[in-house]
Amino acid sequence: MNFEVNENNIPLEKIIASFLTKKNINLYVFRDDLNHPEISGNKWRKLKYNLQEAKENGFNQLLTFGGAFSNHIAATAAAGRDFGLKTIGIIRGDEILPLNQTLQLAQDNGMVFKYISREQYRENNKYEKLFIASLREKFGEFYMVPEGGSNSLAVKGCTEISNNIDIDYDVICCACGTGGTIAGIIASLDNDKQVIGFPALKGGEFLKEDIQQLLSAYSTELNYEVENSNWSLVTDYHFGGFAKVKPELIDFIRKFKEKQNILLDFIYTGKMLFGLYDMIQNTNHFDNKVIIAVHTGGVQGNKGFEERLNITI
Ligand SMILES: *Cc1c(COP(=O)(O)O)cnc(C)c1O
Repeated sequence: MNFEVNENNIPLEKIIASFLTKKNINLYVFRDDLNHPEISGNKWRKLKYNLQEAKENGFNQLLTFGGAFSNHIAATAAAGRDFGLKTIGIIRGDEILPLNQTLQLAQDNGMVFKYISREQYRENNKYEKLFIASLREKFGEFYMVPEGGSNSLAVKGCTEISNNIDIDYDVICCACGTGGTIAGIIASLDNDKQVIGFPALKGGEFLKEDIQQLLSAYSTELNYEVENSNWSLVTDYHFGGFAKVKPELIDFIRKFKEKQNILLDFIYTGKMLFGLYDMIQNTNHFDNKVIIAVHTGGVQGNKGFEERLNITI
């Protein structure tokens, strides 16, 4: 098995902008989207130890859950192919034909799909014993990775993000979906560094509890003391909800690419950086600070988005 991802070469790019200079702020984007050639960003970090665990325990297939545009589905399929594990994707909603880009790529990487109704998802019984048993009957034994990939081993993988940042800083920011990534970052840092999460979904307050749960499961299962309480969520930059966009967000992502030559995704990193820019400009909270924004990847989904909205970035 090969976990070499050439970690030390992940770039840390300084953002050059006069509004930052004026406030004596140093902002860097940590390009964790470049941490692996195919399985980009945090999804690679979250899968890494799960793949190892599956292999070590003799499983020959992985099963996981996600929406039709899910970065996690795309990443699991690619990782499975690379690691010689079959992959099964339980996809929320009706069958999509022809397949969208994300699912087509996953299928090309060998993933087999089963679609389940949105109701079944909403009722939140997708991990229910009977349902899982029926999946085992259909597909045989598998190693199960939860939706979005967030479990204790995913948190462990994400503790490695900060190991790769070799400058001193005050604040580190990341986008949040299920909270696994931020949990790993929190667990890896001392209280002197502030961690700020930007939920990509509406009403992101509920994530606080999920993050707490991920942190306590991580400390119990992996016997690791998490002491950092210096973290918070900024829930105002969801743009109407998960995977929703507004013209000003599209405009921001386009300009960011033009000026900084860094491509952001629409669902997560675009919203985080929009929010961070907005807060920097309209509050004094970040004055004189060194800030790291983690680019967690996700640009695989941009094509589908651009087609759907009939735009180009
Ligand atoms: C999935 C994803 C996230 C959210 O990660 P969580 O660990 O679920 O909070 C953030 N950014 C990108 C690009 C993602 O694909």
